[in-house]
Amino acid sequence: MGVVCPSCRTQTRVLESRRAPDGDSVRRRRECPECGRRFTTFERREPEPADVIKRDGERQRFDRTKLRAALLKAGHKRPITAVDMEAIVDRIEMVASDTGELSTERIGELCLAELETLDHGAYLQFLGTLPPPAAAISGDSDPERSVRVAREDPQSPPKAAARRGLDE
Ligand SMILES: [Zn+2]
Repeated sequence: MGVVCPSCRTQTRVLESRRAPDGDSVRRRRECPECGRRFTTFERREPEPADVIKRDGERQRFDRTKLRAALLKAGHKRPITAVDMEAIVDRIEMVASDTGELSTERIGELCLAELETLDHGAYLQFLGTLPPPAAAISGDSDPERSVRVAREDPQSPPKAAARRGLDE
């Protein structure tokens, strides 16, 4: 299955292939053996549709627009570019499409992990938009520690067990 020359429709040959660091896309530099025209093609894996499972169990289609809006809100007045945010949306969409579904909690964790490496202010602003159960279970008011606890133990223990653990 070759790519033909845009000028003369001859089958082209590949001069160079370069895979993106995320492994999901490839750029190919091509040349037409007939007229010598050179051009580049870009090949990218199309994400499969995925579901988002909300806290109440309701399912929705994964929606890039909603995720982007939430991230842009967190990045408001922070030194983060729209390109950075779009890259985060891309990566989370790929995780969702690989697994077929993601919980809203998991999406929140993925966003936090991404923002943490980009900008601490945006990280904190995003954290402020999340519902508080993680903080309630960990029993302290440091939001960052709560998230770490929630991340290490995705199967959150029942409240009674957590409380017993803290008292001892
Ligand atoms: Zn040609």
